[in-house]
Amino acid sequence: MSYCVNCGVELDRSLKECPLCNTPVMNPRELNMEPDASPYPARKGQVEAVKRKDLGILITVVLTATAATCLLLNLLVFNASLWSLIVIGSCLCLFVFAFPAVFYSKMPVSAYLLADGASVAVFLYLVTFVTRTDRWFWQIGLPVVAMLTIFAEIFPLLGRLLHFTILSCALAVFMEIPLFCVVLELLIRHMLGQPYFITWSAVVLTVCIIIDIALVTILTKKRLRNEVRRRLHF
Ligand SMILES: [Zn+2]
Repeated sequence: MSYCVNCGVELDRSLKECPLCNTPVMNPRELNMEPDASPYPARKGQVEAVKRKDLGILITVVLTATAATCLLLNLLVFNASLWSLIVIGSCLCLFVFAFPAVFYSKMPVSAYLLADGASVAVFLYLVTFVTRTDRWFWQIGLPVVAMLTIFAEIFPLLGRLLHFTILSCALAVFMEIPLFCVVLELLIRHMLGQPYFITWSAVVLTVCIIIDIALVTILTKKRLRNEVRRRLHF
């Protein structure tokens, strides 16, 4: 058993230099002897990385097969309702969500966020064929999806316009949350035919305004901002 004279790590007999610090290994007694065979294989037996294209084919085949078999099962066996539309809609959403990661990564972020929003809207519309009423879709489903898509689109836009940090991102999130809650409560009241008035969303609004004031103060005072960054490690 031998050890590196420099760093003290235990060395295999076959090694000619220390794997950690590259110090040459020399045993004065074995100077004229043949070195042992290396304990490591000569070739790296790494598995080849999966190509994106193959992954794309796999995802497409699995999702298409799922949608097609459920449609057949729906039409031929369990045909009391159009339940397979929910499965087809889910497969469509998964395909659209996976698209930028698997098929085409050069797509701008705003474009695939729009595609994601559109696919969710199509999914919800397909669900209306199962619920047999589309009132909830037009009055709440579609407006909510549209609003969330617009909110999501704000982030890549912010990133392009301003120097994007975790703090400014948090500020955007805490401005969007209360806005979303207020609009959602008003939409629900509109659907139920109640007077336009906010209750629970007012609580969210108040809390978020306090957080926003704190965040704006931190963002505008440079020393405060640097202190927060230093303490939270970002
Ligand atoms: Zn060493």
